[in-house]
Amino acid sequence: MTDRVRSDDSVTFGVDIGGTKVFGVALDAAGAVVAESRVATPHAEDRDGVEPGADVADAVAEVVASLRSRAASPRAPVGVGVGAPGMVDRAGTLRFAPNLPGAAGSDLQALVTKRVPDATVVLENDANCATLAEQTYGSLRGVRQALMVTLGTGIGGGLVIGGEVQLGASGFAGEIGHMIVDPAGPPCPCGRRGCWERYASGGGLGRLAREAAYAGRLPHVVAQVGGDPENVHGENITRAAVSGDAGAMGVLEELGWWVALGLANLVAMVDPERCVLGGGLAEAGELLLEPTRRAFEVLVEGGSVRPRIDIAGAALGERAGAVGAALAARSAGRA
Ligand SMILES: [Zn+2]
Repeated sequence: MTDRVRSDDSVTFGVDIGGTKVFGVALDAAGAVVAESRVATPHAEDRDGVEPGADVADAVAEVVASLRSRAASPRAPVGVGVGAPGMVDRAGTLRFAPNLPGAAGSDLQALVTKRVPDATVVLENDANCATLAEQTYGSLRGVRQALMVTLGTGIGGGLVIGGEVQLGASGFAGEIGHMIVDPAGPPCPCGRRGCWERYASGGGLGRLAREAAYAGRLPHVVAQVGGDPENVHGENITRAAVSGDAGAMGVLEELGWWVALGLANLVAMVDPERCVLGGGLAEAGELLLEPTRRAFEVLVEGGSVRPRIDIAGAALGERAGAVGAALAARSAGRA
């Protein structure tokens, strides 16, 4: 990674608004990430008098300002792409956002534009951005039928059909985290119960982990967090599994089953060549992919007769959303 960008390079910025962090990249014309920046995602408890989306737009603008100072170019960036979690309509309004309630209903594209007036701002769904990035530079290059699943604070999805990322009639295609897998399951911030992301996301991993901790299946992990099962979080599990803790590997196995259940349901619709798992949880790599593949073989319809469906990790890892947001801004600039 270089600190400075040549002045003749056309740099585009992409910013991914996640549940815990707002992460941005400066992407040069060749697709190389030339600068990165991140701030914590604002989640104000008291929203009295706070304009919906204003604090999130401030955070995006802060990341853009930081990228600008690091990827110094005499010209303003041609575009700023922003990936947001939730239902983004074709006009750039964040209609519904269970994991970013402070920005739900806001015209986030206009709010960011107001703060970065010299750039063209494009708002897209975060998982659709990640799909675009994997399609352009990563695990989905040349794949015509595919399913991208981002496992972060929640679950996002991107559908590739006939080589094109599908937006749907209103822009809401791929909102797969909120398909219900257990109507009697735990409540979801979307207002319903038993959504897939209650089980198979970062939040879901934390819940599965605490259940295992209370059941006495994670003695070493519980000891590491000071003895209280309530303090066990997803990252403790991933870390312990990497070092070979059997209880933690068991929790990832359980998580893999839930990931596979959702994939099996979606595969019935999409019939993809490949499923790609991205987002923060995918950083667990084979520790999650391997049990997911094993459970998927059992759960998918006609597993013994259908051609093998490849389940792979995202090549761009956690950067996919931000890189794809930059690509979305670039293609909007060309349109
Ligand atoms: Zn839900």
